Amino acid sequence: MPKLLGQMMQMPLSISSLIRHAARHAGDVEVVSRRVEGDVHRSNYAELERRARQLAQALSRLGCEAGDRVGTLAWNGHRHLELFYGVAGSERVCHTVNPRLHAEQIAWIINDAQDRVLCFDLTFLPLVEKIAPQLGSVGHFVLMTDRAHMPVTSAWPGLLCYDDLLAAESGDWAWPEFDENTASNICYTSGTTGHPKGVIYSHRSAVLHALAQVAPDVMCLGARDVVLAVSPMFHVNAWGVPYAAPMVGAKLVLPGAQLDGASVYELMESERVTFSAGVPTVWLGLMTHMKAQGLQFSTLRRTLIGGAACPPAMLRTLEDDFGLEVVHGWGMTETSPLGTAGQLKAKHVGLDAASRQSVKHKQGRVLFGVDIAILDAADRPLPWDGCTPGNLVVRGPWVIDRYFGRDDSPHVDVAGEPWFPTGDVATIDADGYMQITDRTKDVIKSGGEWISSIDLENIAMAHPAVHEAAAIACHHPKWDERPLLVVVRKPQAQLSAAELLGFYEGRVAKWQIPDDVVFVDELPHTATGKLLKLKLRETYRDHRLPDVRT
Ligand code: AMP
Repeated sequence: MPKLLGQMMQMPLSISSLIRHAARHAGDVEVVSRRVEGDVHRSNYAELERRARQLAQALSRLGCEAGDRVGTLAWNGHRHLELFYGVAGSERVCHTVNPRLHAEQIAWIINDAQDRVLCFDLTFLPLVEKIAPQLGSVGHFVLMTDRAHMPVTSAWPGLLCYDDLLAAESGDWAWPEFDENTASNICYTSGTTGHPKGVIYSHRSAVLHALAQVAPDVMCLGARDVVLAVSPMFHVNAWGVPYAAPMVGAKLVLPGAQLDGASVYELMESERVTFSAGVPTVWLGLMTHMKAQGLQFSTLRRTLIGGAACPPAMLRTLEDDFGLEVVHGWGMTETSPLGTAGQLKAKHVGLDAASRQSVKHKQGRVLFGVDIAILDAADRPLPWDGCTPGNLVVRGPWVIDRYFGRDDSPHVDVAGEPWFPTGDVATIDADGYMQITDRTKDVIKSGGEWISSIDLENIAMAHPAVHEAAAIACHHPKWDERPLLVVVRKPQAQLSAAELLGFYEGRVAKWQIPDDVVFVDELPHTATGKLLKLKLRETYRDHRLPDVRT
């Protein structure tokens, strides 16, 4: 019998289809940006789509061809969003560079991706002026501003003005159709060791990821939402929010460079934001500001927290004191990023608040399309019993196949199938809730037993006098490694090491209680706002623990 094929239309999934859809069905829905120029810019999806078409035309005029990379060094704003659509929608590749990295690393990344054009916010003019001589592949430098804000000096005669480039084009241009597997964006991993590695997303992966993330158990987005894209567009495409919001016709708010608690709160209130997603550091800043000022949210209802472990104390405060519904999610640059989200199942609804929150502390269940497993050291699958930790592996249509420019596959083979090794250590329970216990390299190995640094940090964060805490491994002559806490106290709070260590009694096994506490004024963070434990390990490598002091 010949196989019977489905007889549905073949329509490639494309990023331009998202903005075309939004322009046609939600054309008057606002896109609001706080710009680095100092103003708040108001636009809508119809105008955004028109300007993205003008941008595509302007890139052709600059000689930019299909497959060429267009780099960006920019905050979340409407011009950056136009680049997301105008670049990828015209078959070029949008390369979002993390401007918080070191200048040398930024230059390395731009050269590695061979960017042809570099577009950047006014904030980054001094940085780009400094590194421009090293950027051999870049033929055009475009300042993402209007004529009035262009620098008056003629020191850089070839510098182009973004708004002028667009104004010179008619917008009379049709979005091309091409293979959905075409590259759409490149994002480099943070690269705590060695050089950063490029992850290339496709139109297909971006659209499938957006379809999955708007679902009720993930971000639960719809046309009545106002979404604040607080995670940066240079960190895994703001977690897909710039695609998801137009897909459902939600109003989109872009906060620019001001991500401190007061500015984020002010924007949430003035634009009547209903949903936002971000790393714990952003929420910490917001909560600290709101507590100090005695504020409440008037419109914000839901949030997804991920990128680093959301401490239980933060989840409790946001839900109990600020009335939010919190979903804890997990993902990576290599997974577009969303892999799991921790919304409850029907059987959890009747539980008391504390039991519900203990389910929600976990990083959650997979989104449809993604599959996870935990493996032992010989790559054999481990049981889903909620207590056996193993190396977390993942696969799915928005999970990386291989890194840019590398022929070798990063995958591990499990029963003949390729899986991506995340570098995270996790447990999975019988309901499929995954819980990250550590990064492979952050786990503290004491006398052959593993201690979860995240568990230790979560306990410290639950102490009322602690602002932020990191648990790291410290060398110990007998146990090999023992935990050390590095802690930032809340302003004016009194807390001694002995008091904090006493707080661990009854909360973890005795042998897991940290050996010592170091109080500091602030903790180092990565360019994407996560604790920089590598730096802490270097700093405290020679720290003498109390029982080995001579
Ligand atoms: P990046 O690719 O820079 O976004 O980093 C991805 C890594 O962040 C993951 O492999 C995890 O180690 C960590 N991560 C992301 N989300 C969470 C979470 N909810 N809890 C704990 N760690 C997380």
